[in-house]
Amino acid sequence: MRPDIHAGLAYLAWTAYTHLSATRPPTDAEFWVVIFGSQFPDLVDKPLAWTFGVLPSGRSLGHSLLTAAILVVVLRRYLSRDRDVLVTAFAVSVVGHDLLDAIPPLQRGQPAYVRYLLWPVVDQPPYDTSRSLLDSLVGGMFHGEWGLSSLAILLVALVWIADGTPGLPIGDGE
Ligand SMILES: [Zn+2]
Repeated sequence: MRPDIHAGLAYLAWTAYTHLSATRPPTDAEFWVVIFGSQFPDLVDKPLAWTFGVLPSGRSLGHSLLTAAILVVVLRRYLSRDRDVLVTAFAVSVVGHDLLDAIPPLQRGQPAYVRYLLWPVVDQPPYDTSRSLLDSLVGGMFHGEWGLSSLAILLVALVWIADGTPGLPIGDGE
C-alpha cells in the first residue's frame, strides 16, 4: 500500500478518535507521531530486509502486532504519563498500517501472507526480498488505483484543513 494512503488513513482514524473522545482536532505533536507511526513498519522492515538482508522479508519485525504490543508497553513504561496520548497515537497508526497491509493478500485469496502479523511466532511464506527500497517507493507511487486513491487523499486533505492544519507552524494546531 502506498505511503500516502497509510498516512492519510492513519490521520483520519486519529482525528476521528480525538474528535469523539475529546471534541478537538489532533495537536501538532499528535499529527507528526501519527505520520511517523503510519510509516514505521515499512521504515523498519524494508531497509533491513531489502538493503541489509537482516530480516527475512519486508513484512516481519516492524509489521508484527507482537512488536507493536512490546513497543507500546515499553513506551508507556518509560515515557511520562502526559505522553500517554502520543503513545496511543503511535499505536493506532502502527497497528492501522499492519492491518491495512493485510487487505491485499486477503483480496488475492492468499491468507498465508497475513501471517506477518504474528512474526516471528508463526511460520512465514516465502517473500521476494530482491526489491530495493527505491523500487518499492516508486512502484508504490506509480501503481494501483490512482483515481480512487487520489480522491481519498483529497478527502483527507480537506479534513486536515478543517482541523486547522495540525503539524504546520501556520496552522491552529497545538
Ligand atoms: Zn507495510
